[in-house]
Amino acid sequence: MKIERFAPSPTGLLHLGHAYSALLAYSSAVQSGGKLLLRIEDIDQVRCREIYVDQILDDLKWLGIKYETPILKQSSRFPDYEKTLQSLWNNNYLFSCDCSRKDINIASAPNETPLFGPDGIIYPNTCLNKLKTKKMPETALRLNLYNLDKDNFSFFDEAYGKISFTKEEAINQIGSVILARKDIGISYHLSVVLDDAFQGITHVTRGEDLLDATKIHVILQHILKLPTPVYHHHKLIKDEFGKRLAKRDDARSIKSYRESGYLLKQISKMLN
Ligand code: GLU
Repeated sequence: MKIERFAPSPTGLLHLGHAYSALLAYSSAVQSGGKLLLRIEDIDQVRCREIYVDQILDDLKWLGIKYETPILKQSSRFPDYEKTLQSLWNNNYLFSCDCSRKDINIASAPNETPLFGPDGIIYPNTCLNKLKTKKMPETALRLNLYNLDKDNFSFFDEAYGKISFTKEEAINQIGSVILARKDIGISYHLSVVLDDAFQGITHVTRGEDLLDATKIHVILQHILKLPTPVYHHHKLIKDEFGKRLAKRDDARSIKSYRESGYLLKQISKMLN
């Protein structure tokens, strides 16, 4: 019995890619006799809008997707995130970083082609060895992968099978990602891991663009002694030029299909 979730951020209209993910998660949960939970990922209170939450609920209704209530909003979870950050800080899994994007670009410039990880250019570790204060600072906080007590990681993916990776690969291909953004005090990676565990999620269905992010999540689950769900990284829905859809692309939003009289059947066909 699968407990799946759909976890959109209300920063714009959902598009066909979201519909695909949500329908896949829902049908997989239902087929197993399980359920789908809905989580609104609204940690970025500047970019998130209540109007988009309403749109998400309308879209899901139109798509025929049923979810359990109450809906979890990440904005209600800040105190729990803070507690975990504090314990990661105390255990030397975090370091403080005050580099701007420009600093990172300059520090990476000597490399012929800077390597990109799930969050952009891989952080050149400028601040890694900065003296650590006892009190957790209010800067950005990055994950210190060098302190990991394990060299090999793996998880199971319903599309790819077993995926294994090493600590060294994570250091070189992902790097010291941000776990607490200076402006909002938390990041996607940490909140998603904590909430998947909090909601008892057994199966995560998401786009294959998140494969590297999942590796960070698996590492965080190990550090925090949380269970690792089964993942399903699915193909991305692209436009006719082969470009993946973005929230800016209003023409392909579920809302616009809904309002121009498309039938769910037509949408399902487009997604196959
Ligand atoms: N809020 C994320 C998104 O909308 C969730 C992705 C995930 O963790 O599966 O892309």
